[in-house]
Amino acid sequence: MYQLEPKLSDFLLDLRRSLAHKGFAKILNISTGMPAIFANPYASRSRHISSQKIAQLRLKQKGRKKNTGMKNNEKIALIVGGSRGIGKAIAIRLARSGFNIWLTYRSNHEAAQKTKEEIEKTGRFCEILSFDVSDYKETEMALGKKADEYSPDVVVYNAGITRDNLLLWMTKEEWDSVLSVNLDGFYNIMHAILFPMLREKQGRIVVVSSTSGQIGQAGQVNYSASKAGLIGAAKALAREVGKKNIIVNVVAPGVIETDMTEDLSKEKILPLIPLNRFGSSADVASVVNFLCSEENMYIHGQVIGINGGLAI
Ligand code: NDP
Repeated sequence: MYQLEPKLSDFLLDLRRSLAHKGFAKILNISTGMPAIFANPYASRSRHISSQKIAQLRLKQKGRKKNTGMKNNEKIALIVGGSRGIGKAIAIRLARSGFNIWLTYRSNHEAAQKTKEEIEKTGRFCEILSFDVSDYKETEMALGKKADEYSPDVVVYNAGITRDNLLLWMTKEEWDSVLSVNLDGFYNIMHAILFPMLREKQGRIVVVSSTSGQIGQAGQVNYSASKAGLIGAAKALAREVGKKNIIVNVVAPGVIETDMTEDLSKEKILPLIPLNRFGSSADVASVVNFLCSEENMYIHGQVIGINGGLAI
């Protein structure tokens, strides 16, 4: 524990520098003199700020929301990778629960447009945003200012790709592309939206990992590493932001019938699933919807397997 403390100090110094850059160091009043490794840098440490100042900041934030033309009580869910498959089902499910949707995707404009139309049939608003999550600058440009003006209430990190191969044959490109979309993309998104969410002191984050990230899958060393990395990242984030009323969880689907799995030899996999069927996107969406609802007030930092018993 003592060995780790200097690293924590470095981390806090970096954090303070980055917040100072954004002009928020005084608001959070982060100190580098944390006594223990589990001290939470986002926890309420605002004793040098008067309650009047805090009230002013809240008013300022409310003013921001009004300028966007949205009503203050309208909730936004940002679905990253929401144009197809699991993300699409999550977006529609959350729209039915009353969320307006910001839906991101990379390049399949037709699928995104179709999903937007389906969401709008529920009576909710949907904005589609096309960018590559693995690109830090593109992500910041697409979301940074937007989230600052109106921070999302829910963020679902669902974008993901596979480039399967045995490690022996796996190219550097196959390794890098999967890690950069599945794992770096999570960092890029969180970096763009987390500070506004912290400022609001509320929110839900759901990360879509995979059974492969929990138990490993031959032929998917890159994918398993990225999905296990997401689990670690989400758990650490849950420790950082829980005290700011941001609830973070992970879902880990098994084999779900989408474009991603259409080439799998299903007859070999089915006997391994105790519930004797593949999952549907709706199976995942209903769990994500629950985690984002007020029915869930105390599940935090957990990994929920949605796999029909594939990994018990
Ligand atoms: P799909 O391939 O059907 O959809 C992937 C989504 O992610 C699309 O919206 C796609 O956009 C978007 N996306 C992919 N790469 C990028 C990128 N670089 N930048 C921005 N958006 C991107 O996948 P699934 O619905 O099957 O899977 C969704 C998530 O669930 C993934 O993270 C996957 O790893 C995970 N998962 C899936 C399982 C399954 O069995 N299907 C099992 C376990 C986990 P576009 O349409 O433009 O390509």
